[in-house]
Amino acid sequence: MRVGCPKEIKNHEYRVGLTPGSVREYVTHGHQVLVETGAGAGIGANDDAYRAAGATIAKTAEEVFAKSDMIVKVKEPQPNEWVQLRENQILYTYLHLAPDAEQTKGLLTSGVTAVAYETVTDDRGGLPLLAPMSEVAGRLAIQAGATALQKANGGRGVLLGGVPGVLPGKVTVIGGGVVGLHSAKMAVGLGADVTILDRSIPRLRQLDDIFNGRVHTRYSTVEALEEECFSADVVVGAVLIPGAAAPKLVSREMLSGMKKGAVLVDVAIDQGGCFETSHATTHADPTYEVDGVIHYCVANMPGAVPVTSAHALNNATLQYGLALANKGIKALVDEPHLRNGLNVHKGRITNAAVAEALGYDL
Ligand code: NAD
Repeated sequence: MRVGCPKEIKNHEYRVGLTPGSVREYVTHGHQVLVETGAGAGIGANDDAYRAAGATIAKTAEEVFAKSDMIVKVKEPQPNEWVQLRENQILYTYLHLAPDAEQTKGLLTSGVTAVAYETVTDDRGGLPLLAPMSEVAGRLAIQAGATALQKANGGRGVLLGGVPGVLPGKVTVIGGGVVGLHSAKMAVGLGADVTILDRSIPRLRQLDDIFNGRVHTRYSTVEALEEECFSADVVVGAVLIPGAAAPKLVSREMLSGMKKGAVLVDVAIDQGGCFETSHATTHADPTYEVDGVIHYCVANMPGAVPVTSAHALNNATLQYGLALANKGIKALVDEPHLRNGLNVHKGRITNAAVAEALGYDL
């Protein structure tokens, strides 16, 4: 199969659908790979690195779209991309169609077979192509929180790890899923005093086992949330109720009980945020203050570290992408978890949640 990778064109998107390492895997499996010139610039991979991995470099995105049987990307296609897609071509990327009627219409009109990273599943009921970005965001949340906590950045001036003779800072993580676990790992690594709250007792048991006493776990009630937020230097919001907006767990009123200069990092901002006072910010201007509490609410946190994010994403997407390249759409018949990723095929929506959200028939 001829596999194509255009340069990402969405604003401030520096990741790339295929790293040179992934290109080499496709080529090893007998596929031809066409990469747009400069596609890897955001992760420091130049055209020569792609050539060395076995790719052919295309001068334009148009050439990649026209000559490829499968397009591998990161972000959903933009309007001038979806008009270049066609029937009997596979698109493999993040789509997030439910809130995006315009893109859905574009994909339906094109006739393309579109497999969305975010709805591919695994044996454990997880979303394996979303998880790596949650891992990145979770780990980054502590770096962001620690930076915002510094006095010059408006924070209360606490070093999370403390020093001998001075107590460490306190980190409260609300939601102990993928983001929460990775935030807690980073906070523990820095030497902070860490508490994780969750509504799932089995998950709290698991976390207790993983950290072997190095974190406190607490069932998430209003009382527990208040106590853990009021005593925290950094609070990480990492809750998710699948398919729903994030619950507002910290109200504006609660901010008055928090320490001045404490930091809220709302990772769940992409689902509307779990703090009442959150609104989405950008990497260019990531924080703002409400009632003396610093808020960090960047909606695309992994974008800050495209080198790590692109490699983590490629690690997760490669095996499914190879299955699609090896077998074509037969891979969707053979592999139920990959089939769950199929959102659009030959002008029809094939994912129940997307169809319901947009009012289409399956
Ligand atoms: P996850 O499903 O792995 O974990 C969510 C956890 O929240 C679960 O353990 C669940 O039991 C818990 N939870 C639900 N309601 C709760 C409550 N009331 N109190 C305490 N815990 C509660 O999800 P995840 O992959 O960790 O993602 C968390 C959030 O981070 C999602 O909204 C996701 O979209 C977001 N995210 C944001 C970025 C970003 O760049 N901002 C990047 C990746 C993920």
